[in-house]
Amino acid sequence: MRGKWHFVLTTGFFITLWLIFNIWLKKEFFTITQIIAAIPISFFPDVDHNFKVMGHRNWFTHSIVLWEVVYLFNQHFIFLTLMLGIGFHCLCDIRLQPKKQVGYYTIKWFGMKNLGRYTYPNLNGVYSTLWLSLNFLIAFIQFIVIVVIF
Ligand SMILES: [Zn+2]
Repeated sequence: MRGKWHFVLTTGFFITLWLIFNIWLKKEFFTITQIIAAIPISFFPDVDHNFKVMGHRNWFTHSIVLWEVVYLFNQHFIFLTLMLGIGFHCLCDIRLQPKKQVGYYTIKWFGMKNLGRYTYPNLNGVYSTLWLSLNFLIAFIQFIVIVVIF
């Protein structure tokens, strides 16, 4: 998905959450300041564009793994909000037509240099879709369980 649409959808996603939690349920689980931080950070997965060794849609950047580790050491709410943003980026990277989740759109493990060219072992379309949706689901369920239930 192009950056512009990531921005529009992520902003819409957070505004919706803010309306549900802060206005409707009157619970200030996260603040506007956190949302303003989470929107630009939701672009983080696409830093893989800049590193040939990762390949676009690298499994590590297109996941919440890094942020889970950060949260393990610092249980601040902001990281749950950031994970929601990253997870939502993953969700947006799923093609609506599953057959189109190929090539460029698949999840890459890492690049291997072979005769001066990079090749990328990747997940197939179904597993890429699964990977992307799992990361969103885990971020979302985690947010609900930790922030809403406890
Ligand atoms: Zn992406």
